[in-house]
Amino acid sequence: MLTGMNIAVLGGDARQLEVIRKLTELDAKVYLTGFEQLAHAYTGAVKEKLEDLPVKELDAIILPVAGTNMEGKLDTIFSNMQVILTEAFLKETPEHCTIYSGISNDYLINITKQANRKLVQLFERDDVAIYNSIPTVEGTIMMAIQHTDFTIHGSNVIVLGLGRVGMSVARAFHGLGAKVQVGARKSEHIARIEEMGLTPFHLSALESMVENVEICINTIPHKIITAGIISRMPSRTLIIDLASKPGGTDFRYAEKRGVKAILAPGLPGIVAPKTAGQIIANVLGQLLLDDLGNGRETP
Ligand code: NAP
Repeated sequence: MLTGMNIAVLGGDARQLEVIRKLTELDAKVYLTGFEQLAHAYTGAVKEKLEDLPVKELDAIILPVAGTNMEGKLDTIFSNMQVILTEAFLKETPEHCTIYSGISNDYLINITKQANRKLVQLFERDDVAIYNSIPTVEGTIMMAIQHTDFTIHGSNVIVLGLGRVGMSVARAFHGLGAKVQVGARKSEHIARIEEMGLTPFHLSALESMVENVEICINTIPHKIITAGIISRMPSRTLIIDLASKPGGTDFRYAEKRGVKAILAPGLPGIVAPKTAGQIIANVLGQLLLDDLGNGRETP
């Protein structure tokens, strides 16, 4: 249990509701900032403005999945008020206070470093990334259905990258009856693709692989679908780019050529916010329990 722990949840979207539920179930004292418009009340959670938080007593701070923007602003779907996280605020917290975020940026990394506080990026963890690939795949299937006039079954699909998302996407489209080819650069990935019953190719051969592609799904966070590659694709091809912003596609050239290319970030939060929230809540709950078990004193 998290009895005696003071945890502030600062901003966020529907996914944080599962986190709040989990933390209150575990008996933490939870402070909610940026949730004034949330109608639901949770036993053990109180709504407070940032300036009214008992900052010197906080054991952990939970940020939205996206972390902060480059000015420290937090997304607050349940509030019209601005919530800005600063280095000065973090310096007021106890030394052991840990900051949890989905992803981070230079601003967040910098202020936590300057304040000498630990920052945990949940989406860097394999378990979170693998669980999160499940709603990502479902969102990708939804997009493929919405943006094509043919079935996935029997279609020519290329998946780029065999990481945590690429593997799940390739397997699911294969399961739906698509002819799936997967591009990777490591020989062990090529071997794994073959073992999965899919058609592997080395990324250096991408240009020669796209002539009949109908759906091209990118998971590589690097400019991979260049103008040269797009110029070899049929104009009816649908590109779904799952890689983090700005994606791996030359969107300007795709538009010029009339190839539909969609950058599709944050699919878990869109298609399955409850599940996506539970994934974060479960891992976060365990991390906080481990932290508490590692010598933190409770009153
Ligand atoms: P991952 O496990 O790190 O996989 C990334 C893949 O990209 C690996 O196969 C990696 O191959 C390859 N790669 C990276 N840089 C490359 C380069 N320069 N050239 C060629 N291949 C390269 O990451 P992931 O968890 O699968 O996530 C993939 C992307 O999807 C990330 O950008 C993530 O933020 C994003 N994502 C999006 C959503 C959404 O809703 N759209 C949801 C979850 C994740 P090597 O092993 O050879 O490096």
